[in-house]
Amino acid sequence: RGVTNPGLKKPIRVRFAPSPTGKLHIGSVRSALFNWLFARHNAGKFFLRIEDTDKERSKKEYEDEIIEGLKWLGIEWDGEIYRQSERGKYYRKNLEKLLEEGRAYYCYCTKEELEAQKESMTAEGLPPKYSGHCRNLKKALIGREPEVIRFAVPEVEIEFKDLIRGTVKFDAGLLGDIVIAKDLDTPLYNFAVVVDDGMMEITHVIRGEDHISNTPKQILIQRALGFDVPIFAHVPLILAPDRSKLSKRRAEASFLDYRDRGYLPEAMVNFLALLGWHSEGNEEIFSRQDLIKLFDISRVQKSGAVFNEDKLAWLNSQHIRRLSQGEIFERLQPWLENWKIKASRDFIQKVISVVKDRMRTLGEFFELAGFFFGVSEYDRALLKWKGQALPDVRINLQKILEAFQGLSVGDFTAARITVILDGLVDGAKRGEVFWPFRVALSGKLVSPDPAEIAEILGKEEVLRRVKVALDKLERE
Ligand code: GLU
Repeated sequence: RGVTNPGLKKPIRVRFAPSPTGKLHIGSVRSALFNWLFARHNAGKFFLRIEDTDKERSKKEYEDEIIEGLKWLGIEWDGEIYRQSERGKYYRKNLEKLLEEGRAYYCYCTKEELEAQKESMTAEGLPPKYSGHCRNLKKALIGREPEVIRFAVPEVEIEFKDLIRGTVKFDAGLLGDIVIAKDLDTPLYNFAVVVDDGMMEITHVIRGEDHISNTPKQILIQRALGFDVPIFAHVPLILAPDRSKLSKRRAEASFLDYRDRGYLPEAMVNFLALLGWHSEGNEEIFSRQDLIKLFDISRVQKSGAVFNEDKLAWLNSQHIRRLSQGEIFERLQPWLENWKIKASRDFIQKVISVVKDRMRTLGEFFELAGFFFGVSEYDRALLKWKGQALPDVRINLQKILEAFQGLSVGDFTAARITVILDGLVDGAKRGEVFWPFRVALSGKLVSPDPAEIAEILGKEEVLRRVKVALDKLERE
């Protein structure tokens, strides 16, 4: 559709660049989502790049989790997955180029020497950065192996426009000559990112605010390598409800736990989008399509985004309500199997229609509706309405049984059942009829309207459950 970024006059290309060194967490997924929404909103491209240069800490299982998480949410990437572990030759080539041009150099300083340099600089009241000791070596030191490769950082002021934070200035003189690689085959993060972003023609880098201090370093390397400097957008940190840092437990909890607890992917996408972004109106419930249409990166806030679990549950319940019975049935499949629920689709969908508006997660279905599939053992005292005597409970249940026996299967509807129950109230208190009947059907202190339950269970099962209750009362 030819949408271009006015700054760069190039079609928009963004990337999500996770390091597979730990469980997929919520902050990461939010970065992925913002990139994806930005790309889809602007008819751009969204790439997935696995930053697995740290061979020791990178694990296949973490990469799998990233992919599983994105697929679950419906965040689809364009083209093949990029993996830094497969791009060594590009890093090497670019390192060699900088070394040849004298923009990077081998550094021989050992850890001990660096310590000593730092100490003497601090003693002189200078900022503790690399002294530049090896920058001007004319040739390689004989008999010594270089320790690292450093980038010769020019003493300039860096300024960039962040789409969220406005103009950011940074004095590169404070950096000292940063390490960009351990050796030609072992580039470090800031270097590999720049080579990749440059070669992938990334136009916008959207990532967590914790990366803002890397940005000036990356800009300097981009300039040195002759790449276009992309536009940056640093999204705010995610905070706990009391605005403190998100606890390690939550920040590092696996994102897939939300799936396993019965959150819907569409609710999760909605929730994550609101972690730092809001639309112009008051509306808060959005589908993926709504978000793609509305997402405007300049509306992302600067201040921390509060993570509120109650809000997530509320959004989830709203998205559950938007699904049809049939759709909920499909989503419940793995859960039903776990709970060993075997019943017809038709029956389960009817049950869903009764509890749907009260479900906050898929996992709550069993808690709310498990009794439809079987009543757990309950204490007969539960059958008593306030102050009712057990023999009266029995009389009322007996009357209910008799009244229903005369009802044809076709007439066994909530409306008819209510009329019959009302007829039995006759002078007695309403609760004295409805309560024992409801408990007989559900075995629970709270449950939906008994006539509604009865219609779904059907005549035969209702009679059976009432008889079980009567048996309980007869057993002294
Ligand atoms: N691998 C980095 C991370 O996971 C990527 C940062 C970036 O987007 O540049 O934090």
